[in-house]
Amino acid sequence: MPDAADTDLPTPIEVPNDASLMEKIVNLSKRRGFVFPSAEIYGGFRSTYDYGPIGVQLLRNVKDAWWRSMVQMRDDVVGLDASILSPPAIWEASGHLKNFTDPLVDCKACHERFREDQLEDPRTCPNCGATDSFTEARQFNLMFKTHAGPVEHEGAVAYLRPETAQGMFINFSNVLQSSRKKPPFGIAQIGKSFRNEITPGNFVFRTREFEQMELEFFVPPDEADRWYEYWVDARYQWYVELGIPTEKLRIRPHDPDELSHYSSGTADVEFLFPWGWGELEGIANRGDYDLTQHATHSGEKLDYFDQATNTRYVPHVIEPAAGATRTMMAFLLAAYDEEEVRGEVRTVLRLHPRLAPYKVAVLPLSKKDTLTPLAREVLQLLQPHLMCDYDETQAIGRRYRRQDELGTPYCVTVDFDSLEDRAVTVRERDSMAQDRVAVDDLLGHLLPKLA
Ligand code: ATP
Repeated sequence: MPDAADTDLPTPIEVPNDASLMEKIVNLSKRRGFVFPSAEIYGGFRSTYDYGPIGVQLLRNVKDAWWRSMVQMRDDVVGLDASILSPPAIWEASGHLKNFTDPLVDCKACHERFREDQLEDPRTCPNCGATDSFTEARQFNLMFKTHAGPVEHEGAVAYLRPETAQGMFINFSNVLQSSRKKPPFGIAQIGKSFRNEITPGNFVFRTREFEQMELEFFVPPDEADRWYEYWVDARYQWYVELGIPTEKLRIRPHDPDELSHYSSGTADVEFLFPWGWGELEGIANRGDYDLTQHATHSGEKLDYFDQATNTRYVPHVIEPAAGATRTMMAFLLAAYDEEEVRGEVRTVLRLHPRLAPYKVAVLPLSKKDTLTPLAREVLQLLQPHLMCDYDETQAIGRRYRRQDELGTPYCVTVDFDSLEDRAVTVRERDSMAQDRVAVDDLLGHLLPKLA
């Protein structure tokens, strides 16, 4: 078996949850192709990021895991993909044009801008240290405004959506009629949203362009409280099942003075980031606010006629709203681990197999041509079922380490014995244990472990 000493018992290394971990994640992301700063060759474009070959896969897996749990595994939720460009009427009705604002202050000394509600000390500038140098706060609308069409006149104003949710509300009747669902039922959407954040930062935690995963769950009014509890619990469990340790996860119910006027309950699922607790997802009991607003502004009926009870009502909405990019970062932070093996530090991402960018790496032991045909055969056997990497450069030990850093759950090594016995070595990421498995049994061996 290749590199048998790789199974030497490892010694765990304590990885503190602080700025040093953040730095490691940012470095790993760049080095291994998870996340790159955007427009780097032009000096960068503040707070925008590009997802590299590994990151695009991880992000896709986060979204797929959400879709699987919220849409595929249920018969009371259907999907939607609504447009990003949207007319002002939507945001007028939703209240975003008036209320989707943050309080902005300028430092008169250094001219930096801050969100007043995020200042640690409201009298001291965190950039230059000046005291009492802030202007009066003014409300800054976070929506990106643009013009649709070739002429930039008022009638051509359009907005990039700041959340995906409104797409579900304005399509309520379309979905109700075409899907034949009835409350309680939900509409789910994953997609990009845009907010002109005053203070983006902390890597992909807060960016101006990001991805959301939102569900609007429509229920009879008297069932709203029950469904709200249900979704708070279900959403918390989703993160736990995908590997976030419970000591780094909490549900924080909002205080009454934090609630929007229409909300009778909101709770955030929070993760313990290196700088403290931060929101991954908000679950809100929104009443009939959204459908009523759009019905009033559009003049269309947005309600439900229940034939069984012969009553017409406006469904109440429970909204679990999560961030895909922010959640991806939480999964990365939670999975990061180091241990000492034979005097060297092994970095390993202990990602849940469902999230792992590659499920399997096929590694011919050496670059010798004699191994290539069988290694390629193994790759082609696995590829239709599993996302695979194929790597034949460098010493096998270094290739294992690279896969550990990508979070690949299994490495399959094709060696010279394989040519005789048509068996391969399967190495497991976390334990580094190695098994010899016949090529013909390989798929059956791997698939159940990766489901
Ligand atoms: P925050 O308080 O952090 O600004 P929010 O309460 O305004 O977030 P929501 O409007 O509830 O956020 O959006 C739902 C989710 O979308 C958030 O929990 C978060 O995961 C994600 N999200 C919101 N804004 C951003 C952003 N600027 N960058 C990345 N993700 C974001």
